[in-house]
Amino acid sequence: MGLNVIMLGPPGAGKGTQAERLAAQRGLPKISTGDMLRDAVKRGLPLALKAREEMDRGELVDDQTMINIIRERLSRADTDAGFVLDGFPRTVFQGRELDAIMEDRGKGPLVVIDIAVPEEELVRRLAARRICSSCGMNAEPTDEAAGVCRRCGGTLVHRADDNECVVRERLRVYAEQTKPVVDYYRGRPTFRTVNGAQPPDRVAEELEATIADAARAGASFSLGAQR
Ligand SMILES: [Zn+2]
Repeated sequence: MGLNVIMLGPPGAGKGTQAERLAAQRGLPKISTGDMLRDAVKRGLPLALKAREEMDRGELVDDQTMINIIRERLSRADTDAGFVLDGFPRTVFQGRELDAIMEDRGKGPLVVIDIAVPEEELVRRLAARRICSSCGMNAEPTDEAAGVCRRCGGTLVHRADDNECVVRERLRVYAEQTKPVVDYYRGRPTFRTVNGAQPPDRVAEELEATIADAARAGASFSLGAQR
């Protein structure tokens, strides 16, 4: 049975870094909404055209288009042993549709990890965060340590809009949009919270142990549900 992980968490929680690390460690594909959209556009999938139009207009890609894109992505063989989803689902509708896809495809239970970090710590991290001045990629702690962008070697600069007010507003919007998604999963035996207010290595350790525990709970949960 595959290990299917959803990573949730506010901007600044280190969700992307941890998802990447976990995926590499377990040999699973890391699937983020942005990567999926870019990939669908690059491969010229008809369903990507609508998404691209929406993105070009600066809009969020609508729920149904996102569902179609993820359904296609999860039909590929590299997800048979599992996957790590980063930044999806964003809405309860997407969550329900994802459950339906998992059921259709006979995939195992979803392990849902919410990376929690107190707001003050997020504000501190986000205000300190830099981006690459050449390619615009968000600097991860590893880039900060190296002093340059890992993708293109460009110099790191502070984002113009990363002042405290803007950061707090981003966190408020995130909390408002995502709380229903977290609540949607919270009652499941495979839902877990991980303390993201620790050094990345410690978060990764806690994440590993937590996922192993949740996967065990998920296995007995599905057996129970079949009876
Ligand atoms: Zn760069």
